[in-house]
Amino acid sequence: MAYFWIILLLFAVSRVIHCEISPFGPENEENYKEYYNYLALTRRLHSFVERYPRISNLASIGKSIEGRELWVMRVTTHSIMDVPGKPRVRYVGNMHGDEAVSRQVLVYLIEYLLTQYGTDPRVTALVNYTDIYIMPSMNPDGFERAIEGDCKGNSAGRDNAKHVDLNRSFPEQFDATSTLANDAPEITAVIKWILQRKFVLSGDLHGGSVLASYPFDDTISHIMLGVYSPADDAALFRYLAQTYAQNHPIMREGRAQCPDDPNEKFKDGITNRAESYDVKGGMQYFSYLRGNCFEVTFELSCCKYPLASDLYTEWNNNREALLTYMEKVHIGIRGYVMTSAGIGLPDSNISVAGIDHSITTWIFGDYYRLLLPGTYNITASSPGWYHSKTVHNVKVNEGRATLLNFILKDLIEEMPLLESPASAIPTTARHQVLSSQGVSTLLSKVQQHDSSYHSYLDMEQFLHRISTVHSSVAHFYSIGQSVRGRKLYVMEISTNPGTDQPGKPQVMFVGSMHGNDAVGREILLNLVEYLCLNYGNEPLVTQLVNTTRVHILPFMNPDGNEGAVDAQKYFAVNEDLGGGMRYSSDQNTDLNLNFPELSYARDFVQPETTAVMNWIKAYSFALSASILGGMIGIKYPNSVGSLDEAVFKSITNAYYMVHFSVRGRVTDIQSGQAIANATIVVEGSRHQVHATSTGRYWRLMAPGIYQLHAFAPGYAASVMTVRVLETQVEQVDFWLTQEQLLQSEGQMEEEEFRKLVEGLSSALSLEQLVQSLLPAGTLLYRNYKERSEFLRGLALSFPHITRLYGLGHSWEFRTIWALEISGSPESLRPTEPKMRYVAGVHGNAAAGPELLLEFASVLCINYGWNPTITKLIDRSRIVIVPCVNPDGRELAQEGKCFSTAGLTNAHSVDLDTDFLYGNISVQPETHAMMDLIEGGGFTLSVVLEGGSLMATYPYDRPTQAVQNEETLRYLASVYVSNHPLMHLGYIGCSDGLGRNERSVPQGVLRGAEFNSHTGSMKDFSMDVDACPEVTVYVGCCLYPPPQQLLPLWTEHAMPLFAMLLEIHKGVSGVVQDREGQPVAGAVVRVNGSILVRTDTRGYFHTLLAPGTHQLQVQAPGFQEQLTQVNVSSHQMASPIMIQFTANSSRFAQKVELAAAISIATVILCSLLVWHFRSSKFRRIRDHVRWLHRRRDDLHLEAILSEKSPLRRVFLEESESDDDTFYLEHH
Ligand SMILES: [Zn+2]
Repeated sequence: MAYFWIILLLFAVSRVIHCEISPFGPENEENYKEYYNYLALTRRLHSFVERYPRISNLASIGKSIEGRELWVMRVTTHSIMDVPGKPRVRYVGNMHGDEAVSRQVLVYLIEYLLTQYGTDPRVTALVNYTDIYIMPSMNPDGFERAIEGDCKGNSAGRDNAKHVDLNRSFPEQFDATSTLANDAPEITAVIKWILQRKFVLSGDLHGGSVLASYPFDDTISHIMLGVYSPADDAALFRYLAQTYAQNHPIMREGRAQCPDDPNEKFKDGITNRAESYDVKGGMQYFSYLRGNCFEVTFELSCCKYPLASDLYTEWNNNREALLTYMEKVHIGIRGYVMTSAGIGLPDSNISVAGIDHSITTWIFGDYYRLLLPGTYNITASSPGWYHSKTVHNVKVNEGRATLLNFILKDLIEEMPLLESPASAIPTTARHQVLSSQGVSTLLSKVQQHDSSYHSYLDMEQFLHRISTVHSSVAHFYSIGQSVRGRKLYVMEISTNPGTDQPGKPQVMFVGSMHGNDAVGREILLNLVEYLCLNYGNEPLVTQLVNTTRVHILPFMNPDGNEGAVDAQKYFAVNEDLGGGMRYSSDQNTDLNLNFPELSYARDFVQPETTAVMNWIKAYSFALSASILGGMIGIKYPNSVGSLDEAVFKSITNAYYMVHFSVRGRVTDIQSGQAIANATIVVEGSRHQVHATSTGRYWRLMAPGIYQLHAFAPGYAASVMTVRVLETQVEQVDFWLTQEQLLQSEGQMEEEEFRKLVEGLSSALSLEQLVQSLLPAGTLLYRNYKERSEFLRGLALSFPHITRLYGLGHSWEFRTIWALEISGSPESLRPTEPKMRYVAGVHGNAAAGPELLLEFASVLCINYGWNPTITKLIDRSRIVIVPCVNPDGRELAQEGKCFSTAGLTNAHSVDLDTDFLYGNISVQPETHAMMDLIEGGGFTLSVVLEGGSLMATYPYDRPTQAVQNEETLRYLASVYVSNHPLMHLGYIGCSDGLGRNERSVPQGVLRGAEFNSHTGSMKDFSMDVDACPEVTVYVGCCLYPPPQQLLPLWTEHAMPLFAMLLEIHKGVSGVVQDREGQPVAGAVVRVNGSILVRTDTRGYFHTLLAPGTHQLQVQAPGFQEQLTQVNVSSHQMASPIMIQFTANSSRFAQKVELAAAISIATVILCSLLVWHFRSSKFRRIRDHVRWLHRRRDDLHLEAILSEKSPLRRVFLEESESDDDTFYLEHH
């Protein structure tokens, strides 16, 4: 009872305090009696975020002409980050500045969502499961000019400050040449926002009538009234429009009775927009066709800017409609498109049979296809990469969307063309890999081959892939063989390819008749891809493919130079290089002329020539022109008169010549010389082109924005962004830097990192770093299932820096997960230290696993956002094993500080006594960890335990003589000294029986002094891998109540980061023989005790306490070397160079301080260049755009959250969050 009163008292006090410190007086509550001008709106929106930081976030997506921010309020849980599985919905208001009702109503909607969250279950569910974006005003400038009470919009506030009508100035639907108005930054910002966020559903709020109007908003004729212009999803749009109208008391009547047209009627209050009023250049069609989003326009009131006294009524009229409409984002079908490795595939297509409108997946590979109830056949495809997949008879019911995931098979898996990947997947290859390296490995597989030259195999694979993915329009066949038995492939692109289609004209392109003519070949392969990818999207391509059979022979001479066939000698081709082509309706005449002269002896005719001649004969092409060493042939049907030759000519001609939409030169930045044969790759495309001998290249591309990458041997890669328009050819020139210069760049990067490590080594700057990080706020206790889902979510959200795999299983068959975080999860770098964090060895120590999950989340979300964390992750490999004993953890009892329930595994074994080397009957959990440790290469390990407040270092077994005790103790003290209490050494924990623990000097003990036992993981790690392991007892209570997790994290965050920093210190170096060759497997003995072995590059690294240490280096066949090193506590390991001066002899034992620093520098530089290049290439490969997008989001959001003085509140509130972070909520 006493408790009850105390709690009540505390509660009352806290209420009082809250009222006193609350900056919000009653004037901040909505009174529905005034319009907010720009300043008031800005203030109001900020006040929301300050008050509800956990579920709201304010961002500006751009500025108006007059510099006003275009505010967007985001309302959702975890409002500062993108979480897979949440569909995005948006409302845009006040696009016409004088249509003011929507502006206010949207502010009321924000307030309603925020204040009702946690109270009203409907709002709570909506905010939990939906990513809501609300833009109260798209035209803040116009609003400032508009006048209250102006019902008809006579006060000129409709347009923006440059007199642009924002709902007439989007790029036009039916006029591809229309461009964006320069004087409408509001539109540019919104377009960017629409494309970036890929909204699923949106409502555009206007005034001047009471009506819901659905796409399309115009017709090609732009007749103002009466032309119905349905979208492919017309039925769905009608339903969506009705949803709003039916929930609006006036709209649903369909008789707005607005004064200017009192007799106007719309059945059910909805209409097709074009039918009622043609709007050219509106946002609605743009959202649907370009923005992946279903949008309906709502007119809220007859009077555009009614008196403020009407606002409360307007809010009541619209509230239910606004909420219900948003809820419709959850209808239809939703799910993920992913690879068999579980990696989400962004920008994959989801199409529905019978509806000619596909949508695409978002950054996590997640999609939301709104559909009415019914049965559908759904296809997911990711062209060029994966097999598409169709699922038939998918049922869509009323209400919640049907979940449908697609796993697409990689095309390459089935093509045994390439050798195994060069990049090694280290040690854990046999483990079950859930995520991440699949795509990158495949990418590197392909690109390694491509980067030098487009080989025959690559081409064969390319054609195979294209014909598989685009089987409806592409078909490839062979017309014969080369001298060396390589096939001469022709790709036919046409509807019904491979079948005889009398009456269809045929075009043939022949490339690369000379073996060395790479350009013609590249252009043709590019043409193949271009036609296939754009069929169905680009009207001209679609028309061409529908009406023509295009045959492309990219490689006439697959054997290359050696078997060079100068085909042109044999074909007296009608050359017509003056532009355009000559064609003949009598297809046989020219061809006869082109046969080899009889005077050429048959023996000299190469098989390639014969094959091509037969092919030309069989298809009756008329040869016509030669471009870049190739040929174009055309065959008209007999009924040629019926075809408009001029049109046909212009299509083929235009396609070939005009659509080299990007061209440019590749040049050495120093010398200004052309770089011949440089490779140009378009991100997202598997096809590449090569520069000519003058450094020029051409590339066909559909309109859009692309990243172009240029590579050349000996040069650093370069990236350019290009925006391709339909109307012009873009010039993109590359200036490449030679690698030698890159080398010094690599040194600079190394130097930079060195400074970073030094800088962070002061406690103050480390503290500053930790405090500046984006908080993850994930702390809560998780059971096994939740922990697994959390880890999967993390790996799914950050595929480029994480790898999740199972180390093995517990007795009860729970997976023992390891999460690896690193800048390059797919490959090891030579000088990259490896860190291990482990928790949950004893299941009853429950805080450790959660601290590690929070740690992992903080690392991930700050990667790419915080430069220091990014560099640390790029230069480290972090392996986190959150729970070694998942069975025990399930049994642990929350709130029990001393309970031993869950301490052992399901077979009652204390796992920390089971690490006995050579024991074959170890527990499965032990076995899993042993595998990880034996895999080796770890620099340092930290194990989180509970039940005390101190740290121990090896060894746990009693008899061990500890020769390197100084170093081990030092490492433990690094953790302890960064903890606010531990280093005081006064533990103050009781054991539950009223006895207090003794104090421990500096909070550090040798394991054996604390709890002497054998078979410990710590000892095993030392014995097997020479990896020091520090065990940290994070707090007195084994299973503290959940509200203590946040304080615990606050205490332990800095020590955890300090240990990560520590692995970059110590001593490292390279061991060489006399000739400067690296010596692998050399033993480096430090102070006579620790043993480290050099790797295949002769490289070693070990941690050491600050001070002077002796190194003894031995290798079979060499004379032992001794050297002395100084190690500092705040400096990065400075690589030293140790060179064996002579082979071993029985007599001479020279002691020598190796000083061949210059040679060492060369070796280390080459390591660095390797490092630098691999990091560069990795960035290119790993979906650069994805990361950028993500970082920009976080950046923007972090700036905003940082502005908030209540940022700490976010942390605290997150603690009580009952949603699991990152996870599916359904
Ligand atoms: Zn309007």
